[in-house]
Amino acid sequence: MRKGIQRGLDYTPLFRFLLAKVGCPWNEVHSEAVSRLDKKDPIHWLVAMDYESAEEVIRVGESSYFSGLYVDEKRILRIVNPDIDENTLEPLCKCCTHTFNGIPFTQKYDE
Ligand SMILES: [Zn+2]
Repeated sequence: MRKGIQRGLDYTPLFRFLLAKVGCPWNEVHSEAVSRLDKKDPIHWLVAMDYESAEEVIRVGESSYFSGLYVDEKRILRIVNPDIDENTLEPLCKCCTHTFNGIPFTQKYDE
């Protein structure tokens, strides 16, 4: 298996940790996250350091989606678009179970 390709599955606990820390000071969240990891990169798959470079939804692997996060001007961790959830997203295929922040999409694939 090539290094760097299999991003995702192993980092779900990290992503859940980051999502649970929305509204908290980034410096504290960051040091705690780093202490759980062997490398920092996966943190920044989800977290952008400013709103302009942030994405609303991050896809990890085939069908796992997570909220894009960013650090605001007061250094607080924020969700880019809080209106997106497992009810607003549409699955892209029939064969996979699509999840958002670990929760299955409620919409079915529309053939
Ligand atoms: Zn599929």
